[in-house]
Amino acid sequence: MAAADVSTVPPPGFYRFKVGQLDVTALSDGTHPFPVDSVMVGASEAQIDQALEHDFLGKPPVGSINAFLINTGKKLILVDAGAGALYGDCCGQVVQQIKAAGYSPEQVDLVLITHLHKDHVGGLASNGRAVFPNAVVRASKVDVDYWSSSAAKARAPAFLASFFDAAVASIAPYKAAGRLQVITGAGPIGDGIAAVTSPGHTPGHLSYAITSQDQTLLVIGDLIHVAALQLPHPDVTVKYDTDGAAARVSRSSVLKSAAENRYLIAAAHLSFPGVGHFRRVADTFEWVPVNYEAAATH
Ligand SMILES: [Zn+2]
Repeated sequence: MAAADVSTVPPPGFYRFKVGQLDVTALSDGTHPFPVDSVMVGASEAQIDQALEHDFLGKPPVGSINAFLINTGKKLILVDAGAGALYGDCCGQVVQQIKAAGYSPEQVDLVLITHLHKDHVGGLASNGRAVFPNAVVRASKVDVDYWSSSAAKARAPAFLASFFDAAVASIAPYKAAGRLQVITGAGPIGDGIAAVTSPGHTPGHLSYAITSQDQTLLVIGDLIHVAALQLPHPDVTVKYDTDGAAARVSRSSVLKSAAENRYLIAAAHLSFPGVGHFRRVADTFEWVPVNYEAAATH
């Protein structure tokens, strides 16, 4: 009776839910130890340790990389593409999870990118070829210009050099095929989706508000990296922020608005599926993960 071997079947990595009439699927690209001590800026080691302990987390805590697939009934839209091969074996599982969820990468019509960091665009290309061969890729013009600029690369800290190379390589096959389209600012971009400018983490970081019937899903990209620390201390930034002060302002304004409007949130780095609500408590926030529903197709 007790002789069953430990299963080596990977755990399921997709989670489906409804937003109005849309079918949305959260996809796990993978998880990895998040090096809080070297990455978080503006928090003491004691603060970090206390925050992790408060949320029953070890150190380093395990961080998620999530992407989101939206089926409007007319179009299949992916928001962010995961790390591809760029984070090693931990990650790069977006395509596998798209298939597990019953879709294929060829069916993806549109890929919306929150920002051009490698754990969001790495999955766009594999060996120089488009992973989503029929998709248009849309990203902020500010981010595309910045991450394609050799002058910006020269000015940026050395640890970000590989991010510039990764961004250029990831969008290259789409650009070459005329299927890279930039987003020039906030506002509607079609398909019931509005771009929300939220700069700081990268110069052109975008969030996406996706509305169907009376429900809005706000995909917030990298406005939060470590919920346990940054929700009680929203001023804490990460060393990967291009402009930490601007990132702080974006985080605070988007989170306040999301809490006030009771928007459903989809977050790239909150624990998979990264879907839930922010509750405001004075000047801090709490995360309320989504309530599970098995029959999400109705
Ligand atoms: Zn990022």
